[in-house]
Amino acid sequence: MDDILQHFKVCGALLEGHFILSSGLHSPQYLQCALALQIPADAMGYGELIARRYSGRQIDTVASPAIGGLVIGFAVAKALGVRFVWTERQNGEMTLRRGFTVENGEQILVVEDVITTGGSTRECIAALEAQGATVVAAASIIDRSNGIADVGVPRISLVEMDVPSYAPEYCPMCLKGLPAVKPGSRVAAT
Ligand SMILES: [Zn+2]
Repeated sequence: MDDILQHFKVCGALLEGHFILSSGLHSPQYLQCALALQIPADAMGYGELIARRYSGRQIDTVASPAIGGLVIGFAVAKALGVRFVWTERQNGEMTLRRGFTVENGEQILVVEDVITTGGSTRECIAALEAQGATVVAAASIIDRSNGIADVGVPRISLVEMDVPSYAPEYCPMCLKGLPAVKPGSRVAAT
């Protein structure tokens, strides 16, 4: 777990400082998981770490919510030797498209890069179950909810983090007068 966070920091996938999140909240940490998965061998390594947690379990298919789950979901499917499908939003609703189908009772593992509230994973599970599949578990590299997010099926993560966020008027870093950064610009500059 320390190795994973260290790797995230080296890749710039985990930044520390004073950030303005897309929600408008301020946080001392910023996570951009995609940066830790740029090198296919790294992505496959994370895929194997997740797949190992399901050895001996019947998993027919790995599914992920696009876009965040695509790389890690593919890597987990490769490690498990099963097929990989994804769900995506159409008019705001998470659906199975592109001719992907799932069978009645097909045992599915749903994989995401980061779970924050679990919303995308829950929507992905609902879309698969609506087609008759059985989602047996969910997994992510990072759990930003510190174990709290409930997706309705057993869930694991490689790393649990408790990332604080603050309304600007209560932000301790603002109170200290530290300048806040929007992460996109910071990432591009480093
Ligand atoms: Zn602040």
